Amino acid sequence: MIPGQFDYVRAASLDDALRILTEREGEAKLISGGYSLLPILKLRLAQPGLLVDLRDVTGLDGIVETDDALRIGARATHRQINEHPIVRDHYPMLGELSGGIGDPQVRNWGTIGGSIAHADPASDWPAAILATGAQIVCRSSTGERVVPGREFFIDTFQTAVEPTEVVTEIRIGRRRPGSAGGYTKLERRVGDFATVGVCAVVAIADGRIGRAGVGVTGVSPSPYAATDAEAVLNGSAPSEDAFRRAGEAAAAMSEPTADVRGPVEYKRAMVAEMTVRSLRKAVERALSYA
Ligand SMILES: Cc1cc2nc3c(=O)[nH]c(=O)nc-3n(C[C@H](O)[C@H](O)[C@H](O)COP(=O)(O)OP(=O)(O)OC[C@H]3O[C@@H](n4cnc5c(N)ncnc54)[C@H](O)[C@@H]3O)c2cc1C
Repeated sequence: MIPGQFDYVRAASLDDALRILTEREGEAKLISGGYSLLPILKLRLAQPGLLVDLRDVTGLDGIVETDDALRIGARATHRQINEHPIVRDHYPMLGELSGGIGDPQVRNWGTIGGSIAHADPASDWPAAILATGAQIVCRSSTGERVVPGREFFIDTFQTAVEPTEVVTEIRIGRRRPGSAGGYTKLERRVGDFATVGVCAVVAIADGRIGRAGVGVTGVSPSPYAATDAEAVLNGSAPSEDAFRRAGEAAAAMSEPTADVRGPVEYKRAMVAEMTVRSLRKAVERALSYA
């Protein structure tokens, strides 16, 4: 398939990109890695009049840890995140998530900002955004706003980002002693999108889970925070019984449809199982990082 005609411009800076988005509102679309947008253009599911390429915009791919957050620039690729020493040493859950996205080519080009702005209902990053309660920084020519991750994903391919905004940064709460996360993705074969992906984070104090976050992808029109599972976990001792009950609660909130990846009941059962597996990993890591 061949895309429809469009103009193309490489923004020289973030301000330049924001100016163009404002001047050409309604017809301009950002392109970052292009790994989600180009297939859609080829299928003519989107026909923007202008593509604004972010590749020359500097300062959008940093990964730094501050007192309160891990800050990931929106143009950081899945590979940059996966290989970053801070992620390797302190955020194993983000490492396993980013390392399981697509294949090496996808990870070399695809960006975290593009992934969450695209909001494919089966993409991996939203599960982590929801579980960690991350914040999304959006810039427009009139200023900056910080959107809570749990208000960011609105529906299938729909987010809180305005057409005149650029996602600039993802802020994930800094890891504290006694806290950790785990991500488990069920895929038909290596490189596929998730049949089910579950991200679980826990903060353990005095032998109990003080705060839990569970984000689920692949089994509903939009990735969701499994708040019923979190309610089961909060205040519980970390045990197989609690994990199972949380898994059942996460599965009950799913809205899977039958497709090539399996029937509805299978997918529901897999939500429960992936939740248990992610919780086991999260708790083991949290207890070894006291
Ligand atoms: C073969 C293949 C396998 C894949 N497998 C997986 C997988 O297993 N898991 C997974 O999660 N994903 C997968 N993907 C998707 C991949 O991760 C994409 O890279 C990612 O979803 C989009 O990132 P991008 O930088 O390429 O965005 P682009 O394609 O450039 O843009 C996507 C959308 O986001 C918008 N956008 C981009 N950057 C910004 C920004 N900074 N601010 C605001 N809007 C922005 C664009 O306008 C566009 O609407 C796969 C893709 C392919 C082609």
